[in-house]
Amino acid sequence: MSKRVMNPAARITAVALATAGLGASLVAGAGSAFAAEGKATIATAATGASAAVAAQADAQAQAATKAVKAAAAKQAAAKQAAAKKAAAQKAAAQKAAVKKAVKKAAPVAAKKSASWVKPVSSYTLTASFNQGGAMWSHKHSGQDFAVPVGTPVKAAGAGTVVKAGPNGGGDGPAYGNAVVIKHANGKYSQYAHLSKINVGIGQKVGAGQKIALSGNTGNSSGPHLHFEIRTTPNYGSALNPAAFLRSVGVTI
Ligand SMILES: [Zn+2]
Repeated sequence: MSKRVMNPAARITAVALATAGLGASLVAGAGSAFAAEGKATIATAATGASAAVAAQADAQAQAATKAVKAAAAKQAAAKQAAAKKAAAQKAAAQKAAVKKAVKKAAPVAAKKSASWVKPVSSYTLTASFNQGGAMWSHKHSGQDFAVPVGTPVKAAGAGTVVKAGPNGGGDGPAYGNAVVIKHANGKYSQYAHLSKINVGIGQKVGAGQKIALSGNTGNSSGPHLHFEIRTTPNYGSALNPAAFLRSVGVTI
């Protein structure tokens, strides 16, 4: 047996045999030189093996270090990604909160501004409340808004239609076609001398909703809207409409 035939497999066999105690019986007839050579071979193999083990360990250590480094880098990257994600989430949450706040504030402002409105958008004020004159047997019971026939007439506030039709909706022929709306605050608004009525008794209307077209029906000196605020649905309970509108934030 010589070194040149000692391929790694044979070395392992020799080591295994020596370890098992069989080496002694095998070398019995071959002389001590073989035994010495065998021992040397074993020692070399052992050295080689330990070197290989050491090299492997070193490689493993390097690989481990590399792996640890890679893991650390990965972790750092993940941490960074998580931080980025958290920041993005935070930003999104802030954006959503702002959006929510805006959304929450908007309806309140809209509701407040739309509680009461002028019954016509563009007009000239003519006869005012309590004004005396040849047109009325008593003092004027409302506020007149001079507007062309066919001008949209809007509900001054939200409510329910309680009168709608000719003959002042039941209040008398002087009013012509008229509408009366009952409001949640206990007041009634009345619209008279209309050319066309767009609502019916019992109908719910919103503030600013078109309810009719203005006209010149009934006891009227010219195209205009006669507007009253009443404490009951009926004629004779009128308040100063300009003062009432002012009290609810509407200036005419
Ligand atoms: Zn009038």
